[in-house]
Amino acid sequence: MSLRFNAIEKLSNIEEGKQVDSPGKITSIFGSNVFTLKTARAFLSDEAYKSLVGSINSSQKIDRSMANQIANGIRAWAETKGVTHFSHWFQPLTGTTAEKHDSFFTLKSDGAALEQFDGDALIQQESDASSFPSGGLRATFEARGYTAWDPSSPAFIMEIGDGKTLCIPTIFISYTGESLDYKAPLLKSIEALNKSAVDVCNYFDKNISRVAPTLGWEQEYFIIDESLFNARPDLVMCGRTIFGHNSARNQQLEDHYFGSIPDRVYAYMRDFENEAYKLGIPLHTRHNEVAPGQYECAPIFEEVSVAVDHNSLLMDVMDRVARRHGLRVLLHEKPFAGINGSGKHNNWSLATDTGVNLLAPGKTPKTNLMFLTFFVNAIKAVHDYAEVLRASVSSAQNDHRLGANEAPPAIISIFIGDYLRKVLNDVKERVSDKMDETDESLLKMDIHKSIPELLMDNTDRNRTSPFAFTGNKFEFRAVGSSANCANPMTVLNTIMAETLKQFKKDVDALIEKGDKKELALMQTIRRYIIESEKIFFEGDGYSEAWEKEAEKRGLPNIKTTPLALDAMVSKKAVKLFEENKIYTHAEMEARHEIELEKYIKKVQIESRLMGELAASHILPPAVRYQNTLAQNIKGLKEAGIPESGYASQQKALLKISEHINNLSELVGKMIEARKVINKMEDTRTKAIAYQSQLKDIYFDAIRRAADKLELLIDDKDWYLPKYREMLFLR
Ligand code: ADP
Ligand code: MG
Repeated sequence: MSLRFNAIEKLSNIEEGKQVDSPGKITSIFGSNVFTLKTARAFLSDEAYKSLVGSINSSQKIDRSMANQIANGIRAWAETKGVTHFSHWFQPLTGTTAEKHDSFFTLKSDGAALEQFDGDALIQQESDASSFPSGGLRATFEARGYTAWDPSSPAFIMEIGDGKTLCIPTIFISYTGESLDYKAPLLKSIEALNKSAVDVCNYFDKNISRVAPTLGWEQEYFIIDESLFNARPDLVMCGRTIFGHNSARNQQLEDHYFGSIPDRVYAYMRDFENEAYKLGIPLHTRHNEVAPGQYECAPIFEEVSVAVDHNSLLMDVMDRVARRHGLRVLLHEKPFAGINGSGKHNNWSLATDTGVNLLAPGKTPKTNLMFLTFFVNAIKAVHDYAEVLRASVSSAQNDHRLGANEAPPAIISIFIGDYLRKVLNDVKERVSDKMDETDESLLKMDIHKSIPELLMDNTDRNRTSPFAFTGNKFEFRAVGSSANCANPMTVLNTIMAETLKQFKKDVDALIEKGDKKELALMQTIRRYIIESEKIFFEGDGYSEAWEKEAEKRGLPNIKTTPLALDAMVSKKAVKLFEENKIYTHAEMEARHEIELEKYIKKVQIESRLMGELAASHILPPAVRYQNTLAQNIKGLKEAGIPESGYASQQKALLKISEHINNLSELVGKMIEARKVINKMEDTRTKAIAYQSQLKDIYFDAIRRAADKLELLIDDKDWYLPKYREMLFLR
């Protein structure tokens, strides 16, 4: 029996919903595996505790002796939980997380055995990291890299089965200081943003001394039975199905979205949620998504650096826990053709140390103007750097969403709703260069009075917009479900930092000329609105009309990753990232190279697998059925049956033969094309070729032939689980 039928049979015998222990109250387990400040208080001396807090709040350096004390405290805590090993935990550019486990156990020179974790081991670890992508950075300098403790993210204990490992969040850098991970640049961008945002805040409130970006991500994913998953080599190797005909029923009934969560999936959710709670990940919502088998979870928002760690950690936990339930989680952006893909909406805002959300309309004239300032600066930032933002979410996987008739489009536009559009228009029309101080009352117009009441109702959700204002935050919807949020967040923070820096210069220039502060602010806001308003779009982002309109407005619409990535190394981007000290030019070039290589590898693997599956999974049953039909026709003919008696068999045979020939021929051509492309030296040229000369030309055509065969041949002979089985059986 084929893996497919084995899997289906197993499914009918599966018990509903594994037993998952209820934690009682979530608060009883929340953060129990995290070295929180509260835990630190109990395990550290006053001195060591102060040093840790200082380094968290203001990035102060921790000296060696303090580090020893902190390390000892962390080990003492971890040992109460049965931990024997520790690991530096980091987020390399492969897109997954990485760990290297060492035990506390050590032997002294006199042979004495003891458990030890000293400050050096906490702060820094050398890492033979030659297997991680570096875009040539390490080759030119040093072959080694090291991981360095990031005190801003708390240590945690990862439980895998009975094993427990103390994980120290770290950044990953080369010996000459270049970032080799997602986290180091993110932390730099948070610092840059803090500085320029505080400067601007101080126009309104001198008490604000720290501004931190916040992130609440919404993680979409598919769940599929493990046996079915294992019978699909494409899911195993690529995370998506490269073959498979749509099932008669897809998502057209839309009953999944409103339906209840199936027992097995529900048990899985509660299980991974409990693991997440122990790790301090504040998950808050769970629900079905639009497509069958698709779900979403979202936490309460946190500061960006912690939220990014938590998302990476959760993706890992979701994958592990799924296996306990005989399930697999698919985090790929487009596991099933013709079915909704998965994204990871990034809700982003800015919070001050005085407890103000800078993107929430205020209640008083002063805070309203502060809101308007940050709101308009965010719009200007996205307008000015749309290509850079677009590049930050490009990947081979996400190309199936962006620019491929799915939410959201590759054109970066902003949705703010009718009411705020009107407010901005008012500012545009009523503020003028010639305005003098006596007109100030005019400035206090509607902006000051009516934003709060009207806002919540009026920021209607436009689901097709890639960047939407949703009441008190912007929602960046173009991020892919499998992506590390750090990259888009680094870009968003940096472009905001840069724009605010410029804003302050512009306002100060007017003040120096003699304008009153509020007037200078309003004039600058007005100018920024005019300069960026072409990015506003309220209509249907999927429509062809919008593509045409966007082109007229001069908004970029780059649909494929190899080209979208150009913006990472454009003159504008180099200036932006160098001046804000996020990346050096060399780091940018390296990252560009890495992203291109990732793209090439992904498409290359899919192409190879396509050839292999065609030969081993599609053609054999097709040829067998072709034979059966031919035999049948021959027999009927010999028995003296007139041709009209086997006309339908003949028709089917003809069709099957056509598809078989077509499929074999296309696969042959694709392999030849790949050989030519693989010889190309320049990475960018090669990536473009993989997209335009391989993927675009062959993938859909090959798939079409294979999927037709799936419909024509005897179901019992087909090896690969079908869409209806993967999406509807559980
Ligand atoms: P939706 O209808 O899109 O699910 P929600 O109101 O449930 O909208 O919020 C979605 C996400 O936005 C949640 O993850 C939430 O934590 C996050 N969020 C709310 N406020 C903020 C904020 N100030 N900064 C960042 N994220 C936020
Ligand atoms: Mg949302």
